[in-house]
Amino acid sequence: KVRSVAIYGKGGIGKSTTTSNISAALADMGKRVIQIGCDPKSDSTNNLRGGRSIPTVLDAIRSGKKIEIESLVHEGFGGVICIEAGGPEPGVGCAGRGIIAAIELLRQQKVFEEYRPDVVLYDVLGDVVCGGFSVPIREGVAEQVYTVTSADFMAIYAANNLFKGIKKYANSGGALFSGIIANSVTLPIQREIIDDFASRTGTTIAEYVPRSETITRSELLGQTAIEYDPDSEQANVYRSLARTLLQNENKYVPKPLEAEELKEWAASWSDRLLTEKKNDARAGLES
Ligand code: ADP
Ligand code: SF4
Ligand code: MG
Repeated sequence: KVRSVAIYGKGGIGKSTTTSNISAALADMGKRVIQIGCDPKSDSTNNLRGGRSIPTVLDAIRSGKKIEIESLVHEGFGGVICIEAGGPEPGVGCAGRGIIAAIELLRQQKVFEEYRPDVVLYDVLGDVVCGGFSVPIREGVAEQVYTVTSADFMAIYAANNLFKGIKKYANSGGALFSGIIANSVTLPIQREIIDDFASRTGTTIAEYVPRSETITRSELLGQTAIEYDPDSEQANVYRSLARTLLQNENKYVPKPLEAEELKEWAASWSDRLLTEKKNDARAGLES
């Protein structure tokens, strides 16, 4: 049975980096993988293809010409099938509806039947869980959802919004949540903040992914860490995450915080940090 997973998160948080590395790790394990970029940036699969971009589904639909599905489906590292939904012309049209149109087209053209994947990964921009961006959660497109977040408040805010979206559709056959991918976690405080948010929202952590120079370097070559430096620590982290994704049967409805609760939660952290700062300053004076 195919495992379909949506990976959400705010813009620039590391969704595509994480998703591509998971795809590459899964391909390395012999799995057939399709990665579908659902972000108007259309660069989800670039690091599986030497930094090169591919034509998008929406551009093809917009061109009005007969659609040649072969021109939209490209192989990347390890045979990963790469697809980009694309986005609207900036300032015109709606990105969310683009995702709907792209997924419809892939279904019509029987792409999943033809390529028979073990895993389908949707890399979805999730700043806003509006009608369109929630498509992979609704209507049985993805079964399991993960979110990439750092310890930064705006990333956590986006994760909390995603939890609201999942909760909304959970009773009508929507996808369920399977875990937080904590990205760019280097300092203990970052881990503590994300752990605390997870415990407040009744969610679990799938993996802690450190901020890493291996990524900075591999990205410049248009590669994943799996391809660029397969023996690196970072590659091992993504391999472990890929195994988790394959085996994780844990699916549940998260308990999002209300707007006020989220503010109070953030305020409790800033109080704590201020107290620590004062104590540090006092200790500095005394010594
Ligand atoms: P998104 O897809 O969420 O918009 P990207 O995956 O494109 O974000 O990542 C944004 C930037 O952050 C990229 O330059 C990427 O290399 C960098 N990045 C993401 N995760 C890490 C990490 N763990 N270590 C170092 N750099 C990272
Ligand atoms: Fe587009 Fe979202 Fe508005 Fe629907 S709700 S029209 S998908 S922006
Ligand atoms: Mg991206």
